[in-house]
Amino acid sequence: MKSHTIELPRPQVAADQLGFFRFGDIAGRVLLTNDAGEWHFLGREDFAALVAGTLPAEHPERPTLLAKGFLRSELDLDALSERIRRKKSFLGNGPHLHVVITTLRCNQDCRYCHASRTDMDQVQTDMSLETAKKVVDLAMQSTSNYVAFEYQGGEPTVNMDVIKFCVEYSREKNRYEGKTLDHSVVTNFTYMTEEHAEWLLANDVLVCTSLDGPEELHNYNRTWRSGSDAYGSVREWMAYFNRRWIELGRDPHLWHVDALTTLTRRSLEQWKDIVDLYVGLGIRSVHLRPLNPFGFASKTWDQIGYSTDEYLAMYEEALDYIIDLNKAGTTIIEGTAAVLLKKMLTPDDPNYVDIRSPVGSGTGQVAYNYDGTILPSDEGRMIHAMGDPMFVLGQVGSTSYSEIVGHPTVKSMAVASLLDSLPGCSSCWNAPYCGVRPLHNYRQTGDLFAQRPNTPKCAEHMTIARLLFERLAEDTTGEVEAIFRRWTVQRPRVRDED
Ligand code: SF4
Repeated sequence: MKSHTIELPRPQVAADQLGFFRFGDIAGRVLLTNDAGEWHFLGREDFAALVAGTLPAEHPERPTLLAKGFLRSELDLDALSERIRRKKSFLGNGPHLHVVITTLRCNQDCRYCHASRTDMDQVQTDMSLETAKKVVDLAMQSTSNYVAFEYQGGEPTVNMDVIKFCVEYSREKNRYEGKTLDHSVVTNFTYMTEEHAEWLLANDVLVCTSLDGPEELHNYNRTWRSGSDAYGSVREWMAYFNRRWIELGRDPHLWHVDALTTLTRRSLEQWKDIVDLYVGLGIRSVHLRPLNPFGFASKTWDQIGYSTDEYLAMYEEALDYIIDLNKAGTTIIEGTAAVLLKKMLTPDDPNYVDIRSPVGSGTGQVAYNYDGTILPSDEGRMIHAMGDPMFVLGQVGSTSYSEIVGHPTVKSMAVASLLDSLPGCSSCWNAPYCGVRPLHNYRQTGDLFAQRPNTPKCAEHMTIARLLFERLAEDTTGEVEAIFRRWTVQRPRVRDED
C-alpha cells in the first residue's frame, strides 16, 4: 500500500543545548523570548546556528544568551526560576482591585454607555450602607496585602454617602489588618460640589475622570442631559483638585487628577488633538484603549465603532508622536505601552489585571454591583446588566471570599487565559507579555476561549508589542530605550510627611 506521508527535510535542532524559548520574526531579525520575560534579537544566520548547535563558542552574543537563559549549558536554573517566580508573584496575592458600583444613576448619556446606567430618578439603583458594609467586610478578607477600592457607577459621587462610608469603615477595619489601602473615584465631575471635593482631598481619595479630548469631541461623546457644558465642568474640577493638592503640599507628579479617554470613531480622527490636550494640561499619561465592544446596538456601533485595523493604524501614528514628544523633552506615557514595557524591560509584572496570564477576573479583581451582586470584573457586570447571569459569583453577605476565588466560573476564566496551555499562545513570542480576555471572547463569540488569532485583543496585543520591539530594534542610540525605561517607573504615592 502506498504511503501518503510526505517526508520533508527537518531542520537540525540541538535541543540538548537550548534553553526553553519562543521566537518570532521582527524588524528583519529573530526575537527570542522566554518565561522570565527576557528577550534578545539575533540575525537570521546566528539564529539558525544557535538552533543547530553550531554557534561558535567565541560568538559575541553567547554570554548574553547564556545570562538570559537561552542556552542550556551552564544554565543557572535556580536563578532563572527565581526570575520567573518574581514575574509571576501576583499569582500568590489574591484580588487587589475591588470595584464598587455605588449607584447606576448618572446625569450624562454618553454615546458609548449602555446597560450600566440609569436616570437620576432611579434611586433604587443606589447601593445601601448595609450593602456597602458587606462589600468592605468581604474585600478586606482578600489575601492581597494591597487593596484598592475603585468607586464607579453610573456617576459614583451621586451616592457620596457610600463612598464616605467605605473609605472610613475600611480604614477602621485596617487598623487590625495592616494592609496598604488605596481609594479612587472615577467621576465625570458633573455632580461634584466643593463640599465633596474637600472631603475627597482631606481623605486622600484619588480622583480619575473621563476626558475624551477637546471641547467639541468631549461634548459630542459625553452628552450632559441638562445641556450643560460637560467639558467645561471637567476642566474646572481638574484645575480645582490639582490646585488644592499643591496647596496641601502634595507632590503634583503623584497627586493629580488622572484622566481617561474613550476612543470613538470621531476620536480616531483627532488622536493628535487628544494627545496635545493631555500634554497641555500637564497630564503625564494617555491611555489609548480601543472602545469596549460591550452592549452596543449595531446602529450605535455604526456611528461610533471602528475596526481593529483602523484602531491599530491610529495607535502606531500616535505612539510615534508620543515618542517624539518625549525626545523633545515632554514626559507623556502611553498606557498600554507602559504595561507591556514593564514586562519587557523590568524583572517585574505590573499586575495589570486585563493583561496578565491568567487574567485577573476574580483572582486579581472583583466587582460589586449596587445591589451586592459579586462579579469578576466590571465587564462581567456589563454582561450581567445585559441580562446574562453567566458571570455572577454570588452575593455580599452570603458568599465567602474563598467561594469567590474558587468559583467554577473564575477557574474557567483562569484556564481560558493561561497562555502556557492555550494552542497558538503557548508557542507565541509574545506570550511573556500578553494577556487574553475570556469575557471579551465570550461576548464576541459565545466561547470563553475563542480562537485567539481571530480575536481583536490578540491583534491588539501582538501589534503593540511588535511596534515596541521594532522601535527598540531600530534604536541605535539608546534614546528610545531610555524613554521606554522611564515609562516603567512608578513612584509610590505617599504623603510627603509619611
Ligand atoms: S493572544 Fe495572540 S499575541 Fe497574545 S499570546 Fe496568544 S497568540 Fe500571542
